[in-house]
This record gives sequence, structure tokens and C-alpha cells, in this order.
Amino acid sequence: MPGEFDLIQRYFTRPNRRDDVALAVGDDCALLTVPAGQLLAVSTDTLIAGVHFPVDTAPYDIGWKALAVNLSDLAAMGAQPAWATLAITLPEFNHPWLQAFSAGLFALAEPHKLALVGGDTTRGPLSITITVHGFVPAPQALRRDAAQVGDVVAVTGTLGDAGRALAHALGQSPITDQTDAEWLLARLNRPSPRLAAALALRGIGHAAIDISDGLLQDLQHVLNRSGVGAALQMESLPLSAALRRQTTTEQQAVELALGSGDDYELCVTIPAARWPQAQAAVNACGVTLTRIGRITATPGLALDWNGAAFMPTQRGYDHFKDSQSHVDQANSNQLNSHLKERS
Ligand code: ADP
Ligand code: MG
Repeated sequence: MPGEFDLIQRYFTRPNRRDDVALAVGDDCALLTVPAGQLLAVSTDTLIAGVHFPVDTAPYDIGWKALAVNLSDLAAMGAQPAWATLAITLPEFNHPWLQAFSAGLFALAEPHKLALVGGDTTRGPLSITITVHGFVPAPQALRRDAAQVGDVVAVTGTLGDAGRALAHALGQSPITDQTDAEWLLARLNRPSPRLAAALALRGIGHAAIDISDGLLQDLQHVLNRSGVGAALQMESLPLSAALRRQTTTEQQAVELALGSGDDYELCVTIPAARWPQAQAAVNACGVTLTRIGRITATPGLALDWNGAAFMPTQRGYDHFKDSQSHVDQANSNQLNSHLKERS
């Protein structure tokens, strides 16, 4: 494609600061060194305009988020980020767009010492695929199949914020307070992958997953892979002050925390005896870790709220449940069930 090499040079080539990169952008392959004694953790995520983000999302935020969702997967495995590749499909070579997109991408890459080592650039409907690579010592990987009966179930940060922001961004349930709107939109558009918290939990935590599709749906993956169940207490869910202010009932906030996606917090299971140590280690990174329940031998999820059984109205997003996209599903499920007045 004409101008492709110039584009890659201008927007996607930065000086290399890693000594494990022998060769990066510009040859047929990148040449990289994996540290002895560690496993290579690899993960890919695609973001499609109109599916994973509203089409009018700022390009800086698209660049940030495309990398953030991938780094979140490394965090969920307890892996330290190292390298990424970027396959980008662009409808046109829009220079201001590319400038802002790459600024958002590198704003997140640089503090994590992540090197962009290659990729592919094509023309077509906007789509961004990033593959990240990181390192983890084998015994310290936070695998989905490692939850044990009696473990504490805990989550980082707060839940439901991104779901509330999406309802605002789609014009379904506007937030009039500008400070809350900005804070909640930042939670949606510029999630903070919980890498420091994940590294702090190495050797302490058993299982982990990042919350991309909603707590209930994502925790269920851990339960299925580990052959266990969980009991969660709704009154323990960490809800931000902004989310509490921007929902009309506490139940709306709780249901967003359970079912809406895009928060990119971690859900971890921790042996009960090590809970205080885990919480202190994560707090030392400036991140809250909140205990929300226990792993049980009984399969499935048991939810209660102040001692009474609680039944939410929906269970997060599932791309293959029907033909709807994240954004469309947000319109039909989440907004209808959470943000209209309940009768
Ligand atoms: P090839 O045809 O051999 O696959 P390309 O023309 O696709 O090579 O890419 C040339 C070089 O630029 C390669 O090193 C590739 O990894 C890199 N590259 C292409 N697109 C991107 C991108 N969007 N970001 C980073 N590197 C890229
Ligand atoms: Mg290529």
C-alpha cells in the first residue's frame, strides 16, 4: 500500500530501550530473547470499531485501550510485559488520527517498558489487533484452573464504572455532572491494566482473570476451569463514589458491577491464610483489593445481599450468544435492565 513504510516509520517506530530486542520493526521478523527459566506468556486481542468501542471514540483512547486490554491479559496471568506486535487495518491514512492513536498507544507502552517490535498495516474497516508477549516464572503463573475451595475471592479497584460510562457515551443515560462524566469515561476509555498488582500477587494468589465481560461471566470461567463454585456477598462489591452518584438505586450499581464489561480489573483467588499479605501487597501498589466472597465446593455461583439470596437480571456480555456486538448489547440488555427506573 503506498505510503505504508513511511507511515510505519513515522507512527510505529520508537527507539528501542530493551536489551532483549535484537531486531525490531523493519525486517521480516523481530528477533527476541526470552529470559532463561521463564515462560513466554502470549495473548492477542482485536478491537473493532462499533463492536468494542463506539465509532466516535477519540483515537488517543483507541490506541490506549487496544494496548490496555492486551496488557490486562498479561496481568491476569501474572506476567511481566515485554513486547507487542500491532496489526492495524485503516480505512484511510488520516495523519492526525494516526498521530493521536500512536500517542495513546505509546503513552501506555512506555511506562511498562513494552517495545512495539512489529506488525502489519492494511487498508479496510478500522480494526486493531495487538499481540502482547510477557514473561512469568512457571510456578507463579496465575492460571484460571488454580482456584481452591476455601480461597478468598477478591477484586482490584472498583466495578461497574465502565458500564455506566458506556451508557453515557451511547446517549442512553447521560451524566450531567461533568466531573463524574469525565472520571467514568476515563474508566471506559483508558483502563489501567493491573500489572503492578498482579506482580505483587505472584507466589501468593492461586487463580486470576481480568474482568472484560463482567464479573459473573469472567469469574465463571475460573470456576469452570477449577471445578469449584463461589459464594459472593453483594454488600462487599467495591463501587466507586461516582457510580453510586450516577445510579438511581444501589441495585443498579450492583448489577452494573456484576454484569457490565470493560472494567479491566482483576478477579483473583487467594488462600485464606494469605489474604492479609495479599491485600497489603496490592495496596502497596496504590490499588485497592476487596474481598467479595469465597470459593466453595458447590458448583456455580451463589449470590447473597445482606444474607438474602440475590438474583441479578443479566450475566454480562457474550459475543456468541447472539449476533449483537458489545455496544449493541449494551443498548439492549444493560441499559434497559439497569438504567431505566425499575417498576
Ligand atoms: P512483510 O511484507 O515482510 O510482512 P511489512 O511490509 O508488512 O513486511 O512490514 C514491514 C515491517 O514493518 C515489518 O518489520 C513489520 O513487522 C513492521 N510493521 C508493519 N506494520 C506495523 C505496525 N502497524 N506497527 C509496527 N510495526 C509494523
Ligand atoms: Mg506484513
